[in-house]
Amino acid sequence: MMTVGPWSPPAWADFPGAPTRRYNLARTPTPVHRWHLPGTPDGCEVYIKRDDLTGMQLSGNKVRKLEFLLAEAMDEDADCVITIGGVQSNHCRATAVAARYLGLDSHLILRAPQSIAETGDPGLVGNLLVERAVGANIHLVTKREYAAHGSVALAESLRRRLEREGKRPYVVPVGGSNAIGTWGYVDAMAELAAQMGEDHPHPFTDIVLACGSGGTAAGVALGAALCPELRRPNVWAYGVCDTPKYFYEYVGGILRDMGAPVKDIAKGAGYAMATEEELATTAAIARATGVLLDPVYSGKAAHGLIREMARDPGAWQGRRVLFVHTGGALGVYDKLAQLQPIMEATAPSRRFDVADVETA
Ligand SMILES: *Cc1c(COP(=O)(O)O)cnc(C)c1O
Repeated sequence: MMTVGPWSPPAWADFPGAPTRRYNLARTPTPVHRWHLPGTPDGCEVYIKRDDLTGMQLSGNKVRKLEFLLAEAMDEDADCVITIGGVQSNHCRATAVAARYLGLDSHLILRAPQSIAETGDPGLVGNLLVERAVGANIHLVTKREYAAHGSVALAESLRRRLEREGKRPYVVPVGGSNAIGTWGYVDAMAELAAQMGEDHPHPFTDIVLACGSGGTAAGVALGAALCPELRRPNVWAYGVCDTPKYFYEYVGGILRDMGAPVKDIAKGAGYAMATEEELATTAAIARATGVLLDPVYSGKAAHGLIREMARDPGAWQGRRVLFVHTGGALGVYDKLAQLQPIMEATAPSRRFDVADVETA
């Protein structure tokens, strides 16, 4: 754990400019196991890759990116890390934890509703408790300020301010999704290829995941297209924000920056937006399988997959689907109000009657 060491890309992704070092932060390989997802058509098998179990305080898919990003930060002799995202950003929390592991301070620019941003105190729900517990410096901006300036300009402004104070900040972009962070999911696809064989002799025909800032989808798409052992599965990346067009372009840009052959890679993605229905699906999946998805990302992707399967069950005959659980457990705590009625209806709790307990 937590040592930096030499790294070289798999032969199928040996592009000039590939990173040469990474931190060993994630608990890998993450398990792949059969998953009895409700709504799976007959003749189709679903498996799940448990990237929710990468460790580091529930950091999910973000740890894989941070292994490469923070290696670069340390190589540049940074003494603190800046990153930016929504007020419940899993990425910001993962970055704060990883930075602290390595002895770096963290500065998080968090986008919050105006009423919260103005108070200067975002509270302690979900990711915020972990961020504040590990001593992250939180800088709140309103949604309007975020939209007006953009994440890059806001992070650059904080960088200049910290540099004037004599600090040496390293900026991690939104979601850690740039040409460096994405190597984390190239590496994950090499890991998956190594897990094929004895345990999983038949290749997966489809890989399904949630897409937020695009780095995970970019790495998975690259591996799916180029890694020979994976045999070119379909990649279903369910966007939780923005449009499919935006993601094609963004993912294409990341792949170009990595020096990858972009043609043939960024093709074919699903699309999902937040609904109450998805929360109900998340609850139903936990009840049926014991696996808790998060309502913001992986729950939406699973909902999209189930819907796609219901639309044309015959098309899934003989397919072997791998769902990537990207983590996000702490995001659940931001949705308690919407989950309350679902839980009351499906998972009742009651007072235990102690009247007839025999006293010793
Ligand atoms: C960030 C995140 C994603 C999306 O990954 P990107 O690489 O940002 O697209 C999916 N699931 C969870 C739980 C996340 O925190």
